[in-house]
Amino acid sequence: MGEIIEIIEVLNPGSFRIRFSVTGEERVVSVDPDKRDVFHLQDDNSLMPMACPFLRKICNKKYVCVVHTSRPELCCQYSCYRILVLDSQETKVERRRMLPGISLQ
Ligand code: SF4
Repeated sequence: MGEIIEIIEVLNPGSFRIRFSVTGEERVVSVDPDKRDVFHLQDDNSLMPMACPFLRKICNKKYVCVVHTSRPELCCQYSCYRILVLDSQETKVERRRMLPGISLQ
């Protein structure tokens, strides 16, 4: 999702203007108050450069969206930690976790 959701402006330390690279849509998201520490203390971009900039690890195999309350509409329609695998006819073959054993809270 790091290639899909891009931070284009830091409005303040907890608010960001983002853009979807696919649609060009822009919107503002804010870090949930109870997730500020985990957001500022971790930067998993070095570990997962393709990941959304708002995804943070909270324990061994659990991740959290730190902007859950204001997450984009697109994010409400699917689980960003899963991918849908299609065949050449665009028929669903399987649904797979991008990071095996990982769940998003
Ligand atoms: S749900 Fe949150 S972590 Fe997942 S892609 Fe959307 S903003 Fe990023």
